[in-house]
Amino acid sequence: MIIRQLGSEIFEVKSESDEGKSYIVNLKERSCTCPSYKYKGFCKHIAAVDEFVIENSASQKFK
Ligand SMILES: [Zn+2]
Repeated sequence: MIIRQLGSEIFEVKSESDEGKSYIVNLKERSCTCPSYKYKGFCKHIAAVDEFVIENSASQKFK
């Protein structure tokens, strides 16, 4: 999954099913703009960003 950091707690995640689409994950609110989040209150994008943040903080300290 392609993840891009837009702000301190805002991330853009590219959709896997539709490459032209991307969703915005807000880690502070733990929300996402995808339809799955609206129905379930959770989605794989939030989980992916969680992993992304853990990997990043393990490999490089904040500058
Ligand atoms: Zn999502």
